[in-house]
Amino acid sequence: MLLETRTLTKAYTPETTAVSGVSLHIAAGEIVCLLGPSGCGKTTLLRMIAGLTRPDSGTVWFEGQEITAVPPHLRDFGMMFQDFALFPHKNVFANVAFGLEMHGWSRARIAARVAEMLALVDLADFAQRDVTQLSGGEQQRVALARSLAPGPRLLMLDEPLGALDRALRERLMLDLRQILQRVGVTAVYVTHDQTEAFAIADRIVVMNGGQIEQIATPQALYARPATPFVARFLGFHNLLAGVVAAPGVVETAVGQLRIDDETPAVGTAVTLLLRPEAAAIVASGAKQEAGLQGTVTAVSFRGRYLQVWLAVAATRLMFELPITYDLHPGQTLTLALSPKSILIL
Ligand code: ADP
Repeated sequence: MLLETRTLTKAYTPETTAVSGVSLHIAAGEIVCLLGPSGCGKTTLLRMIAGLTRPDSGTVWFEGQEITAVPPHLRDFGMMFQDFALFPHKNVFANVAFGLEMHGWSRARIAARVAEMLALVDLADFAQRDVTQLSGGEQQRVALARSLAPGPRLLMLDEPLGALDRALRERLMLDLRQILQRVGVTAVYVTHDQTEAFAIADRIVVMNGGQIEQIATPQALYARPATPFVARFLGFHNLLAGVVAAPGVVETAVGQLRIDDETPAVGTAVTLLLRPEAAAIVASGAKQEAGLQGTVTAVSFRGRYLQVWLAVAATRLMFELPITYDLHPGQTLTLALSPKSILIL
């Protein structure tokens, strides 16, 4: 294990605990995203790993050594923030060289390393350019080259793409993952954007109220959110309370639902997640048994599918249905639910 935190806790005020008992393992070469809504403690956790914030309790370990009290500049960690603050009066070369000069590298070694880093971020021809003459995306890549140049033992990134527009962010996500992988650097990446976390991370740590809610690969997180909080945060709307009525059957406010997921003992209270792709329209007049009948309350064209909101009694559910259907609010719809697209959280 390269980096480990053991029950890290930090409260800025007696009433609010920013980070509470967080234990985390990060392997060498891993890219780990801390994901969660604003205020959930991501930055505080990152700052404690960096040594910028002193934990109230708990410890930080690196390569088996406790480093909780080691000052930030002696940790050899690199950092990149949203406000990546390049030196505006220096050119690209000088910006990337800055940390190396601080470390007392020779001129020749600096020149070679800067060239290597600029090639890595695809800015080989930009060395003499003023940083003020770069686009936002180019500046961001210079900042990345600068933070990677000294060969940090760990790279920390706090919302590094936060200031960029959406299209640029989409592209840089891919670049960023590829560059981090090519260098093989271990990275801790803070974001509140699930798309970004999915695109960049090997593993995602979902945080809520200063605690870890779930740790999983992006694929596993999407396939099986562990808690209602994680499900909602990932954009799943259809959460239903229910009680197990029989093996594979759960009684809910919208009726009895069959599920493939393993059910706990009969009588157990559970939360179900109905995936948006769980439903298929049952043609009117068709003989159907497990249909879910409701009234369409909203339809939104999403390109590859229709997002359809359905009111079933007092419950509102959202499904993605083929665009070939002509659906409109007020219509009554019968849907067949696929038992394999319903999960127990
Ligand atoms: P995130 O990065 O997930 O947005 P933070 O770690 O910045 O979360 O903040 C966690 C909690 O701690 C929030 O409630 C925030 O208001 C509080 N907090 C953060 N920094 C400070 C500070 N310097 N002083 C007091 N409270 C703070």
